[in-house]
Amino acid sequence: MTCALCETDGGTLVWRGDQLRLIRADEAGFPAFYRVVWNAHVAEFSDLSPAERTHCMDVVARVEQVLRTQLSPAKVNLAALGNMVPHLHWHVIARFAWDSHFPAPVWAPPQRARDAAQEAALAARLPALDAALRHALSNS
Ligand SMILES: [Zn+2]
Repeated sequence: MTCALCETDGGTLVWRGDQLRLIRADEAGFPAFYRVVWNAHVAEFSDLSPAERTHCMDVVARVEQVLRTQLSPAKVNLAALGNMVPHLHWHVIARFAWDSHFPAPVWAPPQRARDAAQEAALAARLPALDAALRHALSNS
């Protein structure tokens, strides 16, 4: 049984700690789509110890806070599904009223056409955003 999140980072590595890492996913239409990935292969959040859960959610909250500060999104979506890859990861997704699926979940059918100009403008901000995320996580 192979696991994509054991064999690869799972996206563009933004920051790595001893227990978890932050990657930016390559999800078409959603440039500011991050995942907090637990480094060890565990399937469920409750597989973590209480201290590990606290650490994990602190990192998720720091990522959310940076997305809010840097991007002023309409909403930040947090989700832990793992149905496709049963290796613990939290999706942290900045959502905007212009995105193709808003206000539906990113996994739902689209609500409208993609906005290439808005997506490009957001993508241009990713280097600074990634740097802010690394800074926010540097002492976690
Ligand atoms: Zn795994």
